Amino acid sequence: MVRSLQILKEWIALQRRGYHKHDGFPEHPVRVGNHVAYFQRNITAPVKTPKASTPRTQPKTVDAHEMLLERAEIPDSKHAEANRRSIERVAKILPKSHIRKVRGLQFVSLIGGDADPSAPKDTMGSTDLQKRVITVRADQGAATISHEIGHILFDSMPELWMLNGDLFEEMTGTGKGFTTLYAQENAMEFFCENYQFYYRQPEALKKRNPKIYNLMEWFFKRAK
Ligand SMILES: [Zn+2]
Repeated sequence: MVRSLQILKEWIALQRRGYHKHDGFPEHPVRVGNHVAYFQRNITAPVKTPKASTPRTQPKTVDAHEMLLERAEIPDSKHAEANRRSIERVAKILPKSHIRKVRGLQFVSLIGGDADPSAPKDTMGSTDLQKRVITVRADQGAATISHEIGHILFDSMPELWMLNGDLFEEMTGTGKGFTTLYAQENAMEFFCENYQFYYRQPEALKKRNPKIYNLMEWFFKRAK
């Protein structure tokens, strides 16, 4: 070991002084074993045959649209086509990481009233936060779906609650600048309405209420 190290050191020193492999000095010590054959038979250095490359299996990337569509239940109805378009639109405007949190999206003809006595009669959407399953009335579109996704995100981000609550209180005092009428309902609905508004009409929100816009920007940067 020590000996071969010595040979190597000497060889490197000679290389530095201008000796190269065909001007009389033996080959690199590592190749010395081939040296005689190299000059006698004038063979060329063995060509390394490249190993058959095993194709790397790429993980299948499912885009947000595919993901939401896979998790959706769209019953046959006159709204089915519109429901599909709403899913496409939602997938286009919301970050994929937000859509990933949704476990299910059901379109139903009616929520509330006789269909579900626990919900008010004209309910447009509801979300089971435990299961992360959204139910949306079939005649509703991207705004309602985004609003319900907002509930899932709000629920998963407690660090947002105080900032959001403070702004809600402040705005309730003046009663002005809410994104929608329903945003005045409570702090949670305030967030969800702002959420859907921010992603659907960012420029309009910026103009209408920069404080809400800034809160949503803050949220967007932290939401994973
Ligand atoms: Zn809501």
